Amino acid sequence: MRSVFSSTKKMIQAGLLTLSLFGMASYVQAVDASATAKTDVLWFGQAGFRIKTPEGKMILIDPWITEGPKTPLIYKNDLSAIGPIDVLLVTHAHVDHLGDAPTVAKTNNIKLYGPADMVTPLITLGILPAELGHRFNKSGQVTPAPGIKVTAVHADHSSLLVWKNPATNKPEAHPAGEPVGYIIELENGFKIWHMGDTGLFSDMKFISEHYRPDLVMVPIGGNFTMGPADAAYALRTWIKPKMVIPMHYNSNPMTKGTLAEFQEAMKGSSIKIVPMTEGQTVQF
Ligand SMILES: [Zn+2]
Repeated sequence: MRSVFSSTKKMIQAGLLTLSLFGMASYVQAVDASATAKTDVLWFGQAGFRIKTPEGKMILIDPWITEGPKTPLIYKNDLSAIGPIDVLLVTHAHVDHLGDAPTVAKTNNIKLYGPADMVTPLITLGILPAELGHRFNKSGQVTPAPGIKVTAVHADHSSLLVWKNPATNKPEAHPAGEPVGYIIELENGFKIWHMGDTGLFSDMKFISEHYRPDLVMVPIGGNFTMGPADAAYALRTWIKPKMVIPMHYNSNPMTKGTLAEFQEAMKGSSIKIVPMTEGQTVQF
């Protein structure tokens, strides 16, 4: 298949090197062949991303992979296909975010970073070994790998852990703290704001002014989060990033917001929308 690439001076200045059109390519190539370090972002669907940093570290966020309805089969059938992971972040306890995270923590022998009161029940219920849990909370900053800084920020949502007790074989609901979003700063200073699940809140403006994210991963599906119109309002009015990846849509019949509605609501904005398909990698 012939790939078509689009580039503008502005995109290159903004550090966006490549972007596939039509959402059909499984991988995209760099337009700019310069030797500057690059960041690869792979979307698994919903809020799940793997970020390969400029220095080659692998960051995994909200990995709903083996049960994700839109996860490409290569990952869905074999979790190890995601490769070795260095940094693991979870925004809240809902199943489409916690997903395979405890398994990934154990198989990679790495810490699961998450809201303090979500990590605690994971440990006390025996879902996660205590030494693999890192508890932190909003405004807390961690350095989970050299050169990587992650700050937890507000998300306006909820967090309940549903766990099937093996002793009774019945699902139990456990309080799991408050949800967060993450500001992820890479080795080269590139900043990504993964918003987690969130509704509108006016401190999106404060968070943007304080942390200045380059790329924002924003939920647009509605019902549980912002829909296309509210996400566009937040981006145009408060956040004003260089680039945005829409997420948290196309996986659940209750989240009806679409990419087309979001693009329509963003019409005329200079913010670059980077639409992705599940399994696709885009390079920045
Ligand atoms: Zn949620």
